Amino acid sequence: MAVSAERTKDGGHLRPSSISDGVHERIYEKLMALEISPGARILIDGLARELNVSQTPVREALNRLEREGLVRKAHLVGYSAAPQLTHKQFEDLYDFRLMIEPEGARRACHDMTAETLARLQLAAADMEKGEQPVDSNSRYSRFARADAHFHDEIMKIAGNEVVRQALADQHFHLHIFRLMFHSRVTQEALEEHERLVAAFRASDADAAYAAMHNHISRSRDRLVAAFA
Ligand SMILES: [Zn+2]
Repeated sequence: MAVSAERTKDGGHLRPSSISDGVHERIYEKLMALEISPGARILIDGLARELNVSQTPVREALNRLEREGLVRKAHLVGYSAAPQLTHKQFEDLYDFRLMIEPEGARRACHDMTAETLARLQLAAADMEKGEQPVDSNSRYSRFARADAHFHDEIMKIAGNEVVRQALADQHFHLHIFRLMFHSRVTQEALEEHERLVAAFRASDADAAYAAMHNHISRSRDRLVAAFA
């Protein structure tokens, strides 16, 4: 998607906020899909040319991505993509998720309404469809975004915004999905999500806790191979 395609219907000129958001989104996607490798330098003028925008929104987007921990800025070197997770960071992140998300699933189950359940089922279904991907990388990148959305929806329903934000701030999905591209991972995850949604549907909070714990543990087991 070219950022410059984002135009208003009337005057046809670009709104500053949408340019900025669009550029942020495109660079995020490139980081996610490993079009920009972990640790690789990011050249502002190159990106500006590629996205057909001036350097200002690229600079803004990179500053924002730096605050989000996704790119680094070094004196005289400039910007680079955040390095790949270390094994320790990987284990810490999963440990954190296991502390937070099963309990989040339990609470979400208690507070679930017909409306939020429907939204969650939609988010789960979102991961299974979508147009034919151009390659496995973009398929995986899309899956990761949809997975992040699904997990965030559950934390939203659980209702504690401090906890939800603390989790979101880790940019877990970006870091994890940069580790490994493997289509089998997605199929297994979909089945685990389905068990989770079934627990919500049955209003079984203990089953929701267990299903989330199982999903995250198994996800860790699948991905830890990246450090072998
Ligand atoms: Zn998941």
